[in-house]
Amino acid sequence: MTARIIDGKATAARERERITAEVAELAARGVVPGLAAVLVGDDPASHVYVRSKGKACEAVGMRSGNVVLPADTTQERLHAELDRLNADPGVSGIIVQLPLPPGLDPVAAQERTHPAKDVDGLHPISRGRLLRGDPVFVPATPLGCRVLLDAYEVPVAGADVVMVGRSELVGRPLAVLLSQRDANATVTTCHTGTRELAEHTRRADIVVVATGVPHTLTRGMIRAGAAVIDVGVNRAEDGSLHGDADFADLVEVAGAITPVPGGVGPMTVTMLLHNTVLAARHQAGLA
Ligand code: NAP
Repeated sequence: MTARIIDGKATAARERERITAEVAELAARGVVPGLAAVLVGDDPASHVYVRSKGKACEAVGMRSGNVVLPADTTQERLHAELDRLNADPGVSGIIVQLPLPPGLDPVAAQERTHPAKDVDGLHPISRGRLLRGDPVFVPATPLGCRVLLDAYEVPVAGADVVMVGRSELVGRPLAVLLSQRDANATVTTCHTGTRELAEHTRRADIVVVATGVPHTLTRGMIRAGAAVIDVGVNRAEDGSLHGDADFADLVEVAGAITPVPGGVGPMTVTMLLHNTVLAARHQAGLA
């Protein structure tokens, strides 16, 4: 058996077409969504990410603006910048690019971002709404995983899902998302304290792996026909990218699987654009 490939690039392209049309419709009503990225310091990878988010915004007709602060920025200065963006009516959504330089508190910065502009979905109000079951902004990567499952008609309702990883950014919100009534999966969350990970993954209909550890999910750890969503991004010494699952082995056993690259990755920025449009709609009273 060879698995269906869950193509994140193609799905993201279709989502971006939808978003482009929504942005045009909003623009015709005088609302142009805008994303502001706050970047502190000179981490090269963060600069690349922020530039690519800016380009993605422009490609769908949205405004984007980057605020670059020096590495010795104080928490107060960062908060003053966030206050300015919170008050700027041209800014629909704000992201604080992580990691912040040592000495700066990312949680305090997330809490300083106005909940109405929290397109990363990391403010306690966004997290609380997700837990309560009426989210506005779902963090982009978990949302991207959900959209991929739907796009490939992987049955989620009633499915046994094993979420490997419980991070604040990916595992935890995705476990919450998939166990909500509208998704209706039965979700088990695994982590480094889990005994016999394979015993859990082998009985799952869907395994989502988000550990940042290559070879977390290997041959023999899934049942035939299961769907595998691989969130991991690991760079090998030769510069190539790999997920947390052994794709070449699992593609022969799984029913459907995301490749790395080209799976979850392209969905993340796309869902950030989706959240920014949503923010603009809410702020304009058009949601
Ligand atoms: P993280 O904060 O480091 O969390 C990793 C989680 O995996 C933790 O909960 C950890 O358990 C668990 N874990 C680690 N090794 C494990 C093992 N051997 N067995 C079971 N659980 C294990 O990472 P993250 O932010 O969630 O990111 C995970 C991966 O996804 C990374 O490769 C990251 O680069 C990638 N990522 C990709 C995207 C994208 O757009 N494609 C977006 C975000 C992240 P404990 O809690 O017990 O430590």
